[in-house]
Amino acid sequence: MSIADQIKAHIKDVPDFPKEGIIFKDITPVLEDAATLKAIIDHLAEHYADKNITHIAGIESRGFIFGTALAYAMDKGIVLIRKPGKLPRKTHSVTYELEYGTDTLEIHADAVKEGDRVLIVDDLLATGGTAEAAIKLITGLGAEVAATCFVIELSFLNGKDRLSPTTVHSLVTY
Ligand code: AMP
Repeated sequence: MSIADQIKAHIKDVPDFPKEGIIFKDITPVLEDAATLKAIIDHLAEHYADKNITHIAGIESRGFIFGTALAYAMDKGIVLIRKPGKLPRKTHSVTYELEYGTDTLEIHADAVKEGDRVLIVDDLLATGGTAEAAIKLITGLGAEVAATCFVIELSFLNGKDRLSPTTVHSLVTY
């Protein structure tokens, strides 16, 4: 079985969560299956092994899970991109548009710097607004975004176009 099929077999679609009209992709069964979790991290670690990555950045909160496992496997540090008010020291923040209203993400101002090459990790790419904000946070500190990677990409929402020219790598596409 391909890694994509293996992951797909462990994703549960939850209709109308967290609100009507959204089909939520629940990845908790992926996390609960040792072989699938290991396959994902091993695949990403191998894919990025020779890409001169200095840090992994995980987006709260499911990006922390995959991001930290990947950082450990690649012998890198994990940088946290968090919801507002969670990081205790000086932060940089980016506010971005949602379907209704806005959202904000923050990073510690000293988390990365010029010369660093950061791999951004999240569980799922939808419209790309979240990952675009993460890219702005990293580049706003003078570091380079080497690539973005996701376990799942909802390609019909065209998030990849929004992140261009940053490379998008996803293991499963719907
Ligand atoms: P977006 O900013 O539209 O690309 O949304 C990406 C963020 O929202 C990620 O952090 C995902 O975890 C979450 N997300 C968006 N849509 C879904 C979905 N259908 N199922 C699960 N998570 C989602």
